[in-house]
Amino acid sequence: NTDVYYDDDADRSKIDDKTVAVIGYGSQGHAHAQNLADSGVDVVVGLRESSSSRAAAEDDGLRVETPADAASEGDIVSILVPDTVQPAVFEDIRDELDEGDTLQFAHGFNIHYNQIRPPEHVDVTMVAPKSPGHLVRRNYEDDQGTPGLIAIYQDETGDAKAEALAYSHAIGCTRAGVIETTFQEEVETDLFGEQVVLCGGVTSLVKQGYETLVDAGYSPEMAYFECLNELKLIVDLMYEGGLGEMWNSVSDTAEYGGLTRGDRVVDEHARENMEEILEEVQDGTFAREWIAENQAGRPSYTQLKDREENHHVEQVGAPLRDLFAWADDEEEEEAAEAPA
Ligand code: NDP
Ligand code: MG
Ligand code: MG
Repeated sequence: NTDVYYDDDADRSKIDDKTVAVIGYGSQGHAHAQNLADSGVDVVVGLRESSSSRAAAEDDGLRVETPADAASEGDIVSILVPDTVQPAVFEDIRDELDEGDTLQFAHGFNIHYNQIRPPEHVDVTMVAPKSPGHLVRRNYEDDQGTPGLIAIYQDETGDAKAEALAYSHAIGCTRAGVIETTFQEEVETDLFGEQVVLCGGVTSLVKQGYETLVDAGYSPEMAYFECLNELKLIVDLMYEGGLGEMWNSVSDTAEYGGLTRGDRVVDEHARENMEEILEEVQDGTFAREWIAENQAGRPSYTQLKDREENHHVEQVGAPLRDLFAWADDEEEEEAAEAPA
C-alpha cells in the first residue's frame, strides 16, 4: 500500500533557510511562489525581460529577476514554465546550478523523455499538486490543502525526499496528503489519463453521442443537454462517492440501461485502442510526435483546435450556457451565504 505523507511527516528545516527560485509565474508558478513566500520561505521569481507576468508577480509583492539571475540565487530552482518551453529555459539557467542545488519540477515530461539532461551534481525532484494553480493558491489561503505527488529522479545530497516533502508542506500539499511516485509513472499515467479518459476520451464520447442524436433528427439543444451538460452531475457524483454513488443516485432505468449498454459503447475494440495509446506513451512515440509538432510551429495542433472550436456542439452550447448563467450565479451566491 502506498504511503501518504502529511504535515507531520515534513521537516520544514529542510527548506526554511533556503531560497527558492520560481521560474515562471503562470498557473503553478504564481501559486507555488506565493504559498512559499507566505510560509516564510525566501522566494525569487525568474521571468524573461519582456514577460507579461512580471507586473503580476511584483504586484503580489515578489522580487523578480531574469531566469538566470533567479536560478543563481536559488538553492531550489522550480521550473514552472510550460513544458514545451522548459528545455530552452533550462539552457539559460543550467550554468547557475551549484553543487547540491535542486532542480524541481511539477511534471516529469522533459526529464523522463530526456529533453532536459540535468547535471549530475544536483538533486532532481518533483512536487506536483494534483490541481490547477488557482486552486493550489485558493486552498492555501483557505487553510486547506491540495493533494500532491512527489518523486525523486536524482538524489545527489541524500536529502532530496526530505526537501521535496518540506516544499510540499510549504505550498500546502501535505495538509491534504502527498504520495510518492516516480517521474516515469507520473508522466505515463498523466499522459494516458488525459488522452484516453479525461480530455480525449470524454470529448469524443460527448461529440459522438451528440452527433448521433442530431443526425437522427433530435433537437441540438436536447442533444447538448443530454450528452454534455448533464455530464457534470454524473461526474460530481462519481467524484464524491465513486461509481456506486452515481449508480445509486440515478433511476433504476438509467442504472439498468447503463449497465447493459456501457460496455457496448466502449467495447473491446476501444480497449485495444487504449492499449495501443499506452504503448505510444511508454515507447516515446507520443513524446516524439509532440516535440516535432512544436518544432514545426504546431500545424496540426492549430488545425485540430480550430476544428474543435467550430464543432456544432460548441455553436449550440455557447448561447445555452449564457441563457442558464443565472443558475450558476445563484448557486455561487448560495454557497457564499451558507454558514462555514
Ligand atoms: P503556464 O503556462 O501557466 O506558465 C506560464 C508562465 O511561463 C508565465 O509566467 C510565462 O511568462 C512563462 N513563460 C512562458 N514561456 C516562456 C519562455 N519562453 N521563457 C520564459 N518564461 C516563459 O504553466 P503551468 O503553470 O500550466 O505549467 C507549469 C508546470 O506545471 C508544467 O510542467 C506543467 O505540466 C505543470 N503542472 C501544471 C498544472 C496546471 O494545472 N496548469 C498542474 C500540475 C502540474 P511570460 O509572460 O514571459 O510568457
Ligand atoms: Mg494529469
Ligand atoms: Mg498532463
